[in-house]
Amino acid sequence: MAISFDLSGRRALVTGANTGIGQAIAVALAQAGARIALCGRTSPDETMDLIAATGQTATNIAADLSNIKPIKRVIEETVASIGGIDILVNNAGIIRRNDLEEFTEEDWDAVVDTNLKSLFFLSQAAALRMIDQGSGKIINIASLLSFQGGIRVPSYAAAKSGVAGVTKAMSNELAPKGVQVNAIAPGYIATNNTAALQADETRNHQILERIPIGRWGRPEDIAGTAVFLSSAASDYITGQVIAVDGGWLGR
Ligand code: NAP
Repeated sequence: MAISFDLSGRRALVTGANTGIGQAIAVALAQAGARIALCGRTSPDETMDLIAATGQTATNIAADLSNIKPIKRVIEETVASIGGIDILVNNAGIIRRNDLEEFTEEDWDAVVDTNLKSLFFLSQAAALRMIDQGSGKIINIASLLSFQGGIRVPSYAAAKSGVAGVTKAMSNELAPKGVQVNAIAPGYIATNNTAALQADETRNHQILERIPIGRWGRPEDIAGTAVFLSSAASDYITGQVIAVDGGWLGR
């Protein structure tokens, strides 16, 4: 049997795709043949144009995923606009940086609610559809801080470690029902999320020194793994957190 990365006819929902990693993933899934629903709080005009250039159609569902209120509507609108849901990429995420002594409850709740709570409940809502059809792929965007503690980002480390845990927990229940659940842990990728680190000369130097490949990652570096995990080529992979990090975790 030929190994296939083809996503023709598949229907994918990607959160937080107006920029960065989510944008690169949405465009790559479209290039592989999927119909795309985008979901986020900022209008993804550039991403819509990039997808249109691939010949695919995309739809935009406006929703603020800092809480779980819009989740049922997001799945209903996805199904109404692209005909169903075969692939969910939980990419939307935020980070808050502060010293431990100063860290606030607001910075804790905002990150955990967006990066972990909404990810779980959106997955649950998508899984209800995927279980009915007996197939589906859920891809969570984790982090190196699913494995490490990081510096000055305790709520982010907690949320992303939680993403690794919930990826395995969901996989254990959904894999027998035909749905694979995996996560991608990006290394240091040049996006808005890491703008403060890139601008900090000391941290930038420390980070680059530890990456064997010797450069910051680009959003496109994450997209190939997302296509793979969305495709039939990964049908026997589930419950995994795959690092795409230029070699960082190997050091
Ligand atoms: P980014 O450019 O800041 O993108 C984050 C995306 O999430 C944006 O589309 C953002 O929308 C969206 N988002 C944030 N809060 C939201 C909310 N309440 N409701 C809906 N959408 C929301 O950063 P990125 O680096 O591409 O991050 C994408 C994912 O990768 C995140 O989960 C991040 O934690 C993870 N990650 C990034 C790195 C890295 O080095 N860059 C490393 C590991 C993991 P707005 O534009 O409206 O804010």
